Amino acid sequence: MRVVVTGGAGFLGSHLCEALVRRGDAVVCADDLSTGRLENIEHLRHLGCEFVRADVTMPLEVSGTVDAVAHLASPASPPDYLRLPLETLAVGSRGTENALRLATQHGARFVLASTSEVYGDPLVHPQHEEYWGNVNPIGPRSVYDEAKRYAEAVTTAYRGRRANTGILRIFNTYGPRMRPCDGRVVSSFIVQALSGEPLTVYGSGDQTRSFCYVDDLVRGLVAMIDSAEAGPLNIGNPQELTVRELAQLVLEITGSSSAVEYHPLPQNDPTRRRPVVTRVRDALGWSPEVSIEEGLRRTVQWFAARPDAVAAAALA
Ligand code: NAD
Ligand code: UDP
Repeated sequence: MRVVVTGGAGFLGSHLCEALVRRGDAVVCADDLSTGRLENIEHLRHLGCEFVRADVTMPLEVSGTVDAVAHLASPASPPDYLRLPLETLAVGSRGTENALRLATQHGARFVLASTSEVYGDPLVHPQHEEYWGNVNPIGPRSVYDEAKRYAEAVTTAYRGRRANTGILRIFNTYGPRMRPCDGRVVSSFIVQALSGEPLTVYGSGDQTRSFCYVDDLVRGLVAMIDSAEAGPLNIGNPQELTVRELAQLVLEITGSSSAVEYHPLPQNDPTRRRPVVTRVRDALGWSPEVSIEEGLRRTVQWFAARPDAVAAAALA
């Protein structure tokens, strides 16, 4: 297969490019490097992964055959999309339309990397795919949430015109290649623990998330590319933790004696989040395999091997 991965130089995208290259696919990574890094895919460039520097909000053309388009381009960390509000709306709307057009022109499979954020601050727990969500359309997170909701709508409209599209709703995912200073909770806590800085828990820390290790997630993404499933399918690890529990776990795994500090909770921060994953299990035979303890150990190891990046992130 020849697969176009938009956002392929980012955290998830680079792991997807790697998984595809490893099984023998040709990959075109289209990325504007706004939150991604070329070094994430440098090791794949002689193995059949071609890099095209492109902003996918502009018309996207790829010569040669294209069998699938995986659309991952979008800032994903809250500090990134709050810093890039218009860009986030543009890539979720125009960027998704351009990626869909590219897939349609080539008669290719299209997979949208959507998000659990379409459920907003959910009033139904755990979240199943029939739930419509509770999103504040003018809140600070709306630039991301509403862009992804529009992306799902336009993907569904193309499906209505017989395009082979699929939607995955990705829940919080972590692992090697997260940017140490991206501000997400897992990378922040690991950087703080390794640097002896206090762990910054927002609010009481009673809010929950369900964290999926990147290798599990990418296995599901590949299965979705290979299928003709429409979705939407939730994908994530249903093991739910409070942010305070996550902080304790990071302290145990790193052996750090950092303190835990409490900071104000960001506006509209979702209170609870846990996926129902029966649909993805039935449709793709997918379930997560890596426990949070094991996944965090592997992630900590990766960060610990990069002391300069960790030190720079701790100072930022
Ligand atoms: P990331 O920021 O590491 O990667 C996003 C990539 O998209 C970056 O390489 C960035 O440079 C690129 N990009 C952004 N705007 C672009 C544009 N206009 N044109 C071309 N490239 C552009 O984030 P990630 O965590 O790897 O997330 C990847 C995708 O998965 C996103 O669509 C995100 O919404 C979705 N997702 C991620 C998570 C998670 O926990 N990581 C959860 C839910 C959904
Ligand atoms: N969070 C935290 N400390 C941090 C970063 C985040 O307590 O340094 C909290 C954040 O308020 C949220 C949870 O951790 O409740 C997950 O945040 P993240 O930005 O990783 O993902 P998202 O909010 O998009 O699920």
